[in-house]
Amino acid sequence: MRHDYRMREMDLGGGAAPVLRGHFLYSEPMKKHVSWRAGGMAQRVYIPADLEDLGWLVRSVPAREDIHMVGLGSNLLVRDGGVSGVVILLHGVLKKLAIESRTQGMPPAPTGRETALVYAQAGVAAPKLARFAANHDLVGSEFLAGIPGTVGGAIAMNAGCYGSETWDKLVQVLTLDRQGQLNERLPGEYVTGYRHVALKQAPPLPNPPPHAGEGTNVGLRAPNPVNEWFVGGWFRLEKGDGLAARETIKQLLKKRIAAQPLSLPNAGSVFRNPPGDYAARLIESCGLKGFCIGCAQVSKKHANFIVNLGGATATDIERVIEHVEETVEARTNVRLIREIRIIGERQ
Ligand SMILES: Cc1cc2nc3c(=O)[nH]c(=O)nc-3n(C[C@H](O)[C@H](O)[C@H](O)COP(=O)(O)OP(=O)(O)OC[C@H]3O[C@@H](n4cnc5c(N)ncnc54)[C@H](O)[C@@H]3O)c2cc1C
Repeated sequence: MRHDYRMREMDLGGGAAPVLRGHFLYSEPMKKHVSWRAGGMAQRVYIPADLEDLGWLVRSVPAREDIHMVGLGSNLLVRDGGVSGVVILLHGVLKKLAIESRTQGMPPAPTGRETALVYAQAGVAAPKLARFAANHDLVGSEFLAGIPGTVGGAIAMNAGCYGSETWDKLVQVLTLDRQGQLNERLPGEYVTGYRHVALKQAPPLPNPPPHAGEGTNVGLRAPNPVNEWFVGGWFRLEKGDGLAARETIKQLLKKRIAAQPLSLPNAGSVFRNPPGDYAARLIESCGLKGFCIGCAQVSKKHANFIVNLGGATATDIERVIEHVEETVEARTNVRLIREIRIIGERQ
């Protein structure tokens, strides 16, 4: 469904492109923007001024260039050879977070339960959403307090822990496509699963926009390009005990500090847990805890984490990932599936 009231705010159709109001960074070290604190440069980074500006930017990027939406980079490795195209940083830009009073066009609330809708834009930190909800006596999003990414990243990854996942709470998302068009979409339009989200029907490839610049060539696009990104989501949460929710958050964070190597740069769990098992258990059973290449190490505290001991390159990290995959497969017959995302070129 087209997002009518916001389209009035953001009518990108027809008229000439305005001057972009965000700013570009060139040859930007991506290690500054990912939690692993390692990796190569982005040819161009764009920090949009707001949603409208983001729409114009997306629309103006030639179709042959990739666009990489990045939140807090807490699940991302950028290879040392760098990344071409445009990296867009959303954290702290799309930061609206509010109780949604609008009911028109929203999926109906379930009967027999008192609920409220929270609207969060993609650049809001996921823990901030959890605290905001608890402070408004809304429960169900406490698990997000320990996930150090953005709401956009949590939606894109279906981030979750302790039995809860982001899409369990989402009732609608707002997306931006490559034509600069906003779309409201319902969960039923997606296939969602364990750290997996995909539109059932892929959005069409963009028509070259009128101001796309020379050389626009849809035929040169990379295979399986991402053509649509999350810019916000509506979370339906139950009314409950805010004090208890804040206590749950406290306990959750304590549990994480005890179990995870949070004093060293990392990207959380590198691999998905295989059905009925734990990636960490399999990795540990292969004697890989503490395994190192360069300054990248399989954490001694949690075997599904790879930590940067200081000065690790993305190549070190990727080689550790590959070594873990190969060793675990050879010894246990289980091929681990990566949870983290890797972009860019090898050096
Ligand atoms: C210490 C630690 C603990 C963690 N614990 C958990 C956990 O318990 N559970 C869990 O699920 N994850 C966990 N993670 C991983 C990570 O925090 C989550 O995957 C998080 O949701 C990623 O959000 P981000 O904003 O950092 O995304 P990024 O790392 O910036 O991006 C991740 C992927 O999502 C895409 N993306 C980002 N924003 C958007 C957008 N707006 N629209 C479309 N695509 C987008 C990116 O292109 C990329 O492919 C942990 C990470 C760390 C460092």
